[in-house]
Amino acid sequence: MSWTSIDRRDWHLWLVAFLLIFVLGVGLLSFMFPAAFWERGGLVQAPDRAFYGFSLLLILTLTYLFQKESKLRELKRQQWEARLVHNAFHDPLTDLPNRLLFLDRLGLCVSRAKRNPDYLFAVLYMDLDRFKMINDSMGHALGDQLLVEVGRRLQTSLRDTDTVSRLGGDEFAVLMDDIRHASDVSRAVERVRDQFLLPLNLAGREVFTTASIGVALSSPGYHSAEELLRDADTAMYRAKAAGEGRHEVFDKSMHEQAVRLLKIETDLRRAIDRKELRLHYQPIMSLHTGLLAGFEALVRWQHPDLGLLSPAEFIPVAEQSQLIIAVTQAVLHEACSQARTWRSQFPPDLRFSISVNVPAKYLTKPDLVQEISALIAEYDLPPEYLRLEMTESGIMEDPESASQALARLSELGVKTYIDDFGTGYSSLGYLANLPVHALKIERDFVSRLDVDERNSMIVRSIVALAHNLGLKVIAEGVETPHQLDYLKALKCQFGQGYLFSPARDSEMATKFLEEWSGIGDVNKVILANLRAFELFQGLDEGLLGEVAKICKEVTVPAGEVVIRQDQVGDTVYLMLEGSAAIYRGEGDPSHLLTVLQAPTVFGEMAILNQGHLRSANVKALSDLRLLAIPIPQLDPLLRGFPRLRENLQNLVAGRLLG
Ligand code: C2E
Ligand code: MG
Ligand code: MG
Repeated sequence: MSWTSIDRRDWHLWLVAFLLIFVLGVGLLSFMFPAAFWERGGLVQAPDRAFYGFSLLLILTLTYLFQKESKLRELKRQQWEARLVHNAFHDPLTDLPNRLLFLDRLGLCVSRAKRNPDYLFAVLYMDLDRFKMINDSMGHALGDQLLVEVGRRLQTSLRDTDTVSRLGGDEFAVLMDDIRHASDVSRAVERVRDQFLLPLNLAGREVFTTASIGVALSSPGYHSAEELLRDADTAMYRAKAAGEGRHEVFDKSMHEQAVRLLKIETDLRRAIDRKELRLHYQPIMSLHTGLLAGFEALVRWQHPDLGLLSPAEFIPVAEQSQLIIAVTQAVLHEACSQARTWRSQFPPDLRFSISVNVPAKYLTKPDLVQEISALIAEYDLPPEYLRLEMTESGIMEDPESASQALARLSELGVKTYIDDFGTGYSSLGYLANLPVHALKIERDFVSRLDVDERNSMIVRSIVALAHNLGLKVIAEGVETPHQLDYLKALKCQFGQGYLFSPARDSEMATKFLEEWSGIGDVNKVILANLRAFELFQGLDEGLLGEVAKICKEVTVPAGEVVIRQDQVGDTVYLMLEGSAAIYRGEGDPSHLLTVLQAPTVFGEMAILNQGHLRSANVKALSDLRLLAIPIPQLDPLLRGFPRLRENLQNLVAGRLLG
């Protein structure tokens, strides 16, 4: 320590200095003016050797002690400084090197690789899958524990010379220094993935997690650490998009892809204003009647430079930002506007629905229900025309607010579907309580029905589950007649897929609607409906045509469940859009409702249980469509079919078909 570095806190050094100067000063004075000191009896009464000796000893002892304490303090200060430096370069939670230190070490490797082309290294960029869900559901303290444990496992699975770093959040990076061959990296990736096979024990609970890993290998083309980290990150995104627990090695095409993504993100902001988003409509068919039930609106982007882009190319990009909200709103408006056009173009009894895909971010919007109700009011659309599709994982991002939103949408009369059912992680117990209307079976299960037995088991289970929960089922990806037969046998109500039609622009969709909704051709609708009833199965087409001629469609308006007296009588009533038969012959229309309450009837009818029979005001119930067949006219037609006649008699007698 130099004198110049002494500060005020070193008061003991000042004391030593003062004592030294004092003793030396007094000694000097006593030698210079001995008479004055000795005779007058000044400050020092007895200047002898003992006095000086004692003073010097005292000074030396003090100096020694003070020096020692000062050294100790210096040591502490150095340690504190070292700690500060450590903290600046390490992550406080896991104590792993942070991004700054990682980039620094990576930078050294990049410069070394430039000098020595044989020198190889690699960067692994890792992101935990579903960390947010674990963190939200188990609490942040356990989320922290998980990160610490992951960091520890990474360190044990790699060499001492590798740098494991936590970049932030649930992202980790590994710098594999001085590798001999690229295959060393794949082995390291395997070792890292093996670490995730074992469950993590968090406060007594076993949790499984996986990581998506992106790998970037060194090459002389790299000029900075940031470039390498960026490419490893890009590869990680690619891995994540392919599914959980995967890894990808960066290649040049990915860089081009990343640039393209950036362009898409930038351009998408303008695309909405410039009306470059287009909707295509894919039919959803009723498997009972073979007629059109509705359309799914699927967005495409007519990009000025890149051409027509599929949603897979820009929806995931939009989902990473708030941009997805604007995209969803644009799609909703366009879909409702198309629905209005169709309603004005065709007779009023045309029934169809348009379903729109809504992402998690939109679903959890606090003013979602107001927005939807303003939307349908703007386009003068009865709520049952609009349907919203959301994925299980979308719902699970914020289950609490999603389920509230679903309940309020259902009150509004807007039905909701769970999309891509079977691919998420939601618990069945949770799903059973969600107020949704239908499940859409993920297209992969359906289109690969013929490929492997597992898929048919999954499809069968989903249909059974939906039926037990009182939900409807829509099978996506129906591609072959064989798949269609299988689904019909399971009593799956709706189907969508290339077998019927791919998604088409609005002009083609309008043609499809004209052809398949049976609009303007009552006979066609009735025929299709008759075919759907078990009762008439086995009847040849000619005879069915005759029966169709005497049938009449009756609509019982929503909000007022009363069958007029003149509609009752010697008539069989069959409920449309379903296989359940409903009946009542004689006077009191309440009998009709008795049958409506039967469990074979659709879930929505259960609402009738709660309402008063004659004046039940059932908002959510769309108009009841019944097929009325007068028995006296039917009877002569069915002379050759005693079994059928008997069944009809049973119906009239008030018994349901088995
Ligand atoms: P999704 O909602 O499951 O839509 C069904 C996708 O399956 C559509 O692809 C459709 O063309 C395709 N598909 C239909 N039938 C078949 C078939 O028989 N076989 C096969 N292999 N595929 C079939 P698309 O239009 O490319 O849409 C892909 C995904 O993009 C959609 O999956 C949906 O998740 C998303 N998406 C589409 N439009 C929108 C939108 O407006 N908003 C949001 N948020 N997402 C959208
Ligand atoms: Mg969908
Ligand atoms: Mg789907």
